[in-house]
Amino acid sequence: MTDFTMKTDADGVAVITWDVAGKSMNVLSRDAFEMVETLIDQALADDAVKGVVITSGKETFAGGMDLNVLASIRQESGDDPAKGLFDFTMNGHRILRKLERAGMDPKTNKGGKPVACAITGTCMGIGTEIALACHRRFMADNPKAKIGLPEILVGIFPGGGGTTRYSRMVGAMAAAPVLLEGRTLDPAKARSAQLVDEVVPAGELLEKAKEWVLSATDADIVKPWDQKGWKMPGGAPYHPAGFMTFVGASAMINGKTKGVYPAAKALLSAVYEGALVPFDTALTIEARWFTSVLMNPSSSAMIRSLFINKEALEKGANRPSVDDQKVRKVGILGAGMMGAGIAYVSANAGIEVVLIDNAQEAADRGKSYSADLLDKGMARKKVTQEKKDQVLGRITATTDYAALDGCDLIVEAVFEDVSVKAEVTKKTEAVIPEDAIFATNTSTLPITELAKASARPEQFIGIHFFSPVDKMMLVEIIRGEKTGDVAVAKALDFVRQIRKTPIVVNDARFFYANRCIIPYINEGIRMVKEGVAPALIENAAKLVGMPLGPLQLTDETSIDLGVKIAKATKAAMGDAYDDSVDELLFWMEAEGRLGRKANAGFYTYDEKGKRLGLWDGLADKYPLAEDQPDLIEVQHRLLFAQVLEAVRALEDEVLMDIREGDVGAILGWGFAPWSGGPFSWLDILGAPYAADRCDQLTKAYGARFTTPDLLREMADKGQSFYGRFGPEAKAAA
Ligand code: NAD
Repeated sequence: MTDFTMKTDADGVAVITWDVAGKSMNVLSRDAFEMVETLIDQALADDAVKGVVITSGKETFAGGMDLNVLASIRQESGDDPAKGLFDFTMNGHRILRKLERAGMDPKTNKGGKPVACAITGTCMGIGTEIALACHRRFMADNPKAKIGLPEILVGIFPGGGGTTRYSRMVGAMAAAPVLLEGRTLDPAKARSAQLVDEVVPAGELLEKAKEWVLSATDADIVKPWDQKGWKMPGGAPYHPAGFMTFVGASAMINGKTKGVYPAAKALLSAVYEGALVPFDTALTIEARWFTSVLMNPSSSAMIRSLFINKEALEKGANRPSVDDQKVRKVGILGAGMMGAGIAYVSANAGIEVVLIDNAQEAADRGKSYSADLLDKGMARKKVTQEKKDQVLGRITATTDYAALDGCDLIVEAVFEDVSVKAEVTKKTEAVIPEDAIFATNTSTLPITELAKASARPEQFIGIHFFSPVDKMMLVEIIRGEKTGDVAVAKALDFVRQIRKTPIVVNDARFFYANRCIIPYINEGIRMVKEGVAPALIENAAKLVGMPLGPLQLTDETSIDLGVKIAKATKAAMGDAYDDSVDELLFWMEAEGRLGRKANAGFYTYDEKGKRLGLWDGLADKYPLAEDQPDLIEVQHRLLFAQVLEAVRALEDEVLMDIREGDVGAILGWGFAPWSGGPFSWLDILGAPYAADRCDQLTKAYGARFTTPDLLREMADKGQSFYGRFGPEAKAAA
């Protein structure tokens, strides 16, 4: 293995270069960590070496730890995975502590060798933790590079000493944005935040780091916490200022995480407890909390969904093996809310865009949406004038279908109407190249049905974006009955170009995401009808990790859209349609309480559209029941309504891969991210408990909670979803 190599120059500086072969970013594997230790030992033992610079052979420094390592350690550790994880973590601490002490005499703090880190570019997770263990950090002044400790975003926290070191460097309060929010910083901001000491031109990076190493004194390389009389910046927990910080932070974490994300609380505990004891004990405490978080099923589920599976899907886990289908020129039909957003993300990714609408004014308005977003970016100094001009220069707004000539992909986003869509399909196919792919962004109409208007149904597909397009990361790709592999590959390559996360599903009513979210909304509305307090419904949802309660979500998406979908679904389903929520929805519409857009819905709003609180007029029509259900009962109704739909989608083969079901749920509609998604949540509950719970809910509330056959069978056989349908199981089959 050559992930790290060391070369000592004539000046006596040993340069350790991190350069993992065949990868665009350095990630730390298990063996490589051992290798770092060997090289440090060599450098410390070699009298010819005066000091060390750690750098990267790539433009970026590090992407972080290979998170698969944590999963494999857990597996290998047999009956005592906690011990395996703790020992692994402590070994990491030992290695980085060796680097930090660099051979110093423990009593006098003298005689150590200076170690600088030369950070070439983006530096995340363990990369930053290695840097923090060094004595001085230099970063190349590339404004696009980011440095940080974003572990919290995948449900863990920096457990390679980053938590203890950084909080001791700047104090708990100042460390919070980096540690607790996972904020990553550009070099200039990183310098203010003390993550790096010096920002230098890329060409001088190594030279500056070496210069420092050669001039550093004994005093320069002793960390503050290894010096006598060290005090925690901003105050230790029992100092009055520190006390305020920790009380405030604790309240803030509970407010933000609602108690469902274990990592944030564990991180704060590690900082708090660590601040009361010497540094090495603090590292042990950090390792214990880290282990406890890794042992929490929520963390492994989050890592699996938000990191491992998400990345696998983005890399094309379900891409048919056909040639590269990168998009060069995309035609977008309809420059409304969705079309305008799709135009923006496409042009931003370097793709030529033809944006079509009925009237030139409408097409121009669609293009101006991009201009507005770019202006906002410029105001935040994220976008340059040059970039703005380039992106806008790629968008041609027109009414002329002839401009679609040469497009290799079409995304149709006109009105949700079969005949309007049929008409534009025909008009478009008359001018685009024979091998172009035609995609529709419909949210409710069957792809197979819409494909009937196409002369080339195998080249017809659904690419379903979520609103707002520039923010929502999920794209649902829908195969119609006749859709061919090239169309699927094209859609996947397009999604990759615009840097979003794809799932590929088969054609069925509401596809996957909307199919699951509608029962969530309906369950909330049913409860209102039953007299459950709206505040209980909304808070139960948020306390179980849903970003919006079902009533707020209805207000956001609008009541009239709900009415429209209800009517269309009823027309399509006939007698099979369950109209339990229609009465309330139709009444709200008649009352003009259309949701946020009308400044009146389940909530009340002020003139500026600020949400004030739940509307108490609702209780006049639907009085509160005297007996209110338990919180957990409300939460289970809201969650099971969604996950049972996901299980049915798997049974119906709408979903072909549970990874897509989990990732799609979190990114598409914010399904309780702490759970890892619907299938991960059911695995955490265990199939026997989940099936039992369905039986109880069915008895209490009706057939919509009927235990799916698949879940019943899995309960009987003691199976889990990932055990039976996960990638390993699939590979073994
Ligand atoms: P919208 O009403 O904002 O935009 C539709 C645009 O299409 C309008 O500008 C209209 O002038 C234009 N148009 C209509 N007929 C046309 C024609 N014959 N030729 C060219 N342009 C024509 O609607 P939207 O919200 O952007 O939705 C568009 C599509 O995206 C619909 O199929 C909708 O179901 C789907 N969708 C919407 C959302 C959402 O949240 N709004 C989410 C996912 C998918």
